[in-house]
Amino acid sequence: MDAEYIAGQRQWQKSLMQAGLAGLSWPIEYGGQGASPHRQLIFHEEHQRAGGLGGEPFFVGLTHAGPTIIAEGTEDQRQRWLPGILSGDLLFAQCFSEPGAGSDLVSISTRAVVEDDHLIVNGQKIWNTRAQHADMCELLVRTDASDRYGGLTYLMADMHTPGITVRPITAITGRPEFCEVYFDDARIPLTNVMGRVGQGWNVATTTLLFERSTAFAATIIGLQRVVAGLAEQHRNDPVRAHRVQELSDDVMAVRALLYKTVSEQENGDEPGPTSSALKLVATELNHAVHKFAALEDRAHLESYFEAFGLRIGGGTSEIQRNILAERVLGLPREPRR
Ligand SMILES: Cc1cc2nc3c(=O)[nH]c(=O)nc-3n(C[C@H](O)[C@H](O)[C@H](O)COP(=O)(O)OP(=O)(O)OC[C@H]3O[C@@H](n4cnc5c(N)ncnc54)[C@H](O)[C@@H]3O)c2cc1C
Repeated sequence: MDAEYIAGQRQWQKSLMQAGLAGLSWPIEYGGQGASPHRQLIFHEEHQRAGGLGGEPFFVGLTHAGPTIIAEGTEDQRQRWLPGILSGDLLFAQCFSEPGAGSDLVSISTRAVVEDDHLIVNGQKIWNTRAQHADMCELLVRTDASDRYGGLTYLMADMHTPGITVRPITAITGRPEFCEVYFDDARIPLTNVMGRVGQGWNVATTTLLFERSTAFAATIIGLQRVVAGLAEQHRNDPVRAHRVQELSDDVMAVRALLYKTVSEQENGDEPGPTSSALKLVATELNHAVHKFAALEDRAHLESYFEAFGLRIGGGTSEIQRNILAERVLGLPREPRR
C-alpha cells in the first residue's frame, strides 16, 4: 500500500465530497448531506456496484472516528476534523491495541500526564492499520494507574507530533498493512481530549460499537459481488453450485441484518451490544466465502489471508461471542482476572 495508492484514494474521496456524495448521512453543517442512514447504505451498494474505489484508507475516519466525534466531540472538535475526514485530507488511524492489551483493552499501559494545557504521552501501540499514512489517530491512554476504567483518557492525536514514531509491520499478504506506534514525550493539546480526562473508557466503547456495527457494510456489500462471481463460475457444477447457493443465502441473511441495524439507527438508537452479532457473522461469513473461493482459484488467496485479520481486528470473534452471551443473552459472566 504505497503513497501513490493513498494519493489516488484521497483524490477519489475529494471528488465524492465535491459531488456531494461523501458522508451522506452526516450533518450538513460538517460537510455531510443530512440524509438517512438507509440512503447512505444504498449509496454504498450502488457505488461499489459501479466500481467506485473502496475507500479502505478512510475506514477509521468515516466509519468510527467521525461518528464518535459527531456523538461525543465538542463543537470545536467537530468543526476541526469532520470536514477533513469527508474530503480525504485527514486520514485517521486507530491507536488502541498494545503488545500487552488487545482483547482486554482496559489493561493498556501507555501513560499520559497533564502538563499545563497538554497531555505528555509515553508508551507503545501495535497493529495500527495504515498508521504510516495517517494524519490523526484515535488514541487511548492511561492517565491514572490506580483506577482501571476511570483512569483512561481518549484523545485525537496529530500523527506528525514530535515524539511519535511509526514503524510498519509486514502482514501475511506481504504488504505493510499495520504498524507499531511509539510515543516518547509526545505533547497532545488537552483540546484534543474526547469527553474529559478520565472518561476515555466510555468514549472508546462508543467507538467500538460503531466499529462493530455498520463499519462492516462494505465487506458485506463486497460479498454479494464475490458470490455472484462464484455462482457464474460454477453454474455447470451441481456440487459446487449447491455450496455457492448456501453461501449466497447466508450473504443475503447478513445483508438483511445490516439493513435491520441501519433501521435501528434510523430510529435514533445508538449501536448497542447486538452490533457484535453483525461483526461476528459478517467477518465469519467473509472468511468462509473467501476460503471457498481461494480453494478454487489462487487469485482469491490474498482476500482469504485478509479475511483472517477481519475476524481479529475490532475485537476477535471469541470476544464478540462473549459479549453476545453475557450482554444480550444474559448468560453468566466468565470469571474476570
Ligand atoms: C487486520 C487487523 C487490523 C487491526 N487494526 C487495528 C487498529 O487499527 N488499531 C488497533 O488499535 N488495533 C488493531 N488491531 C488489533 C486487534 O484489535 C487485536 O489484535 C485484537 O483486539 C486481539 O488482541 P490481541 O492481538 O492482543 O490478542 P489477545 O487479546 O491476546 O487474544 C489472543 C486469543 O485469545 C482469545 N481471547 C482473549 N480473551 C478471551 C476471552 N476473554 N474469552 C475467549 N477468548 C479470548 C482471542 O480471541 C484470541 O484468539 C488489528 C488486528 C488485526 C488482525
